[in-house]
Amino acid sequence: MSTLPSSRPSLDPRPMHPAGDGPEAGDLSRVAADPRPAAQVLSRFPPGPRSIWRDVPEALWNDWHWQQRERVTRLDQLEKVIRLTDDERRAAIESDAEFHMGITPYYAALMDPEDPACPIRLQSVPTMGELTIAPADLEDPLAEERDMPVRGITHRYPDRVLFYTTHNCPVYCRHCTRKRKVSDPTSATAKSQVEAGLEYIAAHPEIRDVVISGGDPLSLSDERLDYILGRLRAIPHVEIFRLGTRNIVTLPQRVTDDLVYMLRRHHPIYVNTHFNHPRECTAEAFEAARRLADAGCAIGNQMVLLRGVNDDPAIVKELNHKLLLMRIRPYYIYQCDLARGISHFRTPVETGIRIIEYLRGHTSGLAVPHFVVDAPHGGGKIPVSPDYVVSHEGKRWVFRNFAGGEYEYFEP
Ligand code: SF4
Repeated sequence: MSTLPSSRPSLDPRPMHPAGDGPEAGDLSRVAADPRPAAQVLSRFPPGPRSIWRDVPEALWNDWHWQQRERVTRLDQLEKVIRLTDDERRAAIESDAEFHMGITPYYAALMDPEDPACPIRLQSVPTMGELTIAPADLEDPLAEERDMPVRGITHRYPDRVLFYTTHNCPVYCRHCTRKRKVSDPTSATAKSQVEAGLEYIAAHPEIRDVVISGGDPLSLSDERLDYILGRLRAIPHVEIFRLGTRNIVTLPQRVTDDLVYMLRRHHPIYVNTHFNHPRECTAEAFEAARRLADAGCAIGNQMVLLRGVNDDPAIVKELNHKLLLMRIRPYYIYQCDLARGISHFRTPVETGIRIIEYLRGHTSGLAVPHFVVDAPHGGGKIPVSPDYVVSHEGKRWVFRNFAGGEYEYFEP
């Protein structure tokens, strides 16, 4: 069936930046003129360094197209930014066939040029660990392709779908769960595939929640994203969208006034992002989150637990406190999944439980996300938490609190 128009519908004839007076211009000026956060908040978010790009004019540095164009994708470029170890040099060559390298200048400049254990570097520079394929590794660890009624849609849960709109990302994270297709130009999402996805969603009235993912949907132009969101918003049974994007972390310049102006027309929009370390919480990332939050987007963070990056409760606590200052709610901590070539990042499940134990009660509940194992073979997200039940007999329960004290509760 297709009652859907094949070209971009005229959702709103207004230009992205209305020039004249009137309510539209008033809307936009409110985006730009929102009050600045307090200096004591901003002071915790230093601007990212510029590394070898220190002489690049401000306007270019803040141009997301320039950041995309100038990505570090080759070994000779990378060697100008950091002092490579032999392991990294070999891995940059040998891992390319499996998963390309791509790092925006902004994110590359966050790397410590001298420290191979730098958490930014571990997430973006290949290491030889990627060449080790563990027996448990899986090409499609979450069985997303299996639950695809049409290409580009994973429909596993009753009322929501995952909608793949692009396979590009500004930075190719070395721990990516979708390495099988992300960064591979031959798997680029065709326009016909997006159309088929839209038609599938329109034909299934049980779908009320669409997770727009990829790759990173903010790799698309504003116009293309506007088109997809407009088509979805025109489907009566679709209630909410969730945009899964790491641009706030790896290319915050992408969050322009034009983008947030466009997003405001399609609310309610939830944004799920992916900060993994407090070092990613810069002034630039803060500003990107501020624009999205001021435009009415609710933002949640989905951290992936990674050995050597954030498998330390104090680091997670510091990250979550910074996220709350950025109006980003820590939402999930994921156990690192079974994607191919990422076994060097995996931690024992106990590490996640220990982190939740360290947070729960010791800091605001807002800073305590759900720790989940996204079960292999399509089992979905399974929450795992410390056990606070000491014993249970009939109507008598004994609980322990965060400080280890035991308390009885009798069910009335
Ligand atoms: S942004 Fe997400 S989809 Fe893209 S490479 Fe990183 S983890 Fe994978």
